[in-house]
Amino acid sequence: MFTLFKNICTKTNQNCALCHSEGSSDIALCNNCYEDLPWLTSACHICALPITTTGAPRICGECLKNPPAFSSTQAVFLYRFPINAIIPKIKHHHGLHHTTWLANCLLKRLLKQPQAWPQAIIPVPIHSFRLISRGFNQSSLIAGQLSQHLKIPLLLNHLKKVRRTKSQSTLSAQQRKTNLQHAFTYNGPSLKHIALVDDVVTTGTTIKEISSVLRQAGIQRIDIWVIARTPAPS
Ligand SMILES: [Zn+2]
Ligand SMILES: [Zn+2]
Repeated sequence: MFTLFKNICTKTNQNCALCHSEGSSDIALCNNCYEDLPWLTSACHICALPITTTGAPRICGECLKNPPAFSSTQAVFLYRFPINAIIPKIKHHHGLHHTTWLANCLLKRLLKQPQAWPQAIIPVPIHSFRLISRGFNQSSLIAGQLSQHLKIPLLLNHLKKVRRTKSQSTLSAQQRKTNLQHAFTYNGPSLKHIALVDDVVTTGTTIKEISSVLRQAGIQRIDIWVIARTPAPS
């Protein structure tokens, strides 16, 4: 898998990863594509829901009513074109090289933000059956790149998805919660502060469920680092 990953990266290194034109920036995208990306600029500090409220800290109504078990979410993009076309492609093996520049964009966003850095980075896991059939977990690839650049240890294999679940996208809000109950376990160290890494946050049910599991295991502060966030359902 890593040879494949390396080859794809090498092949596209010289050109923009989106339009293939020459003269790419340090992030492997040309300036036009970079500027046209759906950057998330105004969002809830806790869950990264896009909101337009001014003032600090920005917190959405839902987080005020029901504060989640995590402290903050940093998301780089809105889950809109081309991000909503690229991320599903990664999962189906057609765009593994995109994880590199996507993770770089997240890294740049994190470095811009003054913050207390976590003691470890944990990717949102997938079930071992899915890992075998897909061959990789895209959240682990992103988390690995962040860990390497930030020199923060990557914690793999402590947080596990132990139960196979239905795809969240077809379920109602209540069904999503039930679907994920007892799906995750954590048997790692009780650290004070970790960052949980995922590719996309949609309703937030997964990160809420995992954060509850991590808090029960004694982890005091959880920050969520993701590539993209979907807007609120209309
Ligand atoms: Zn381009
Ligand atoms: Zn919120």
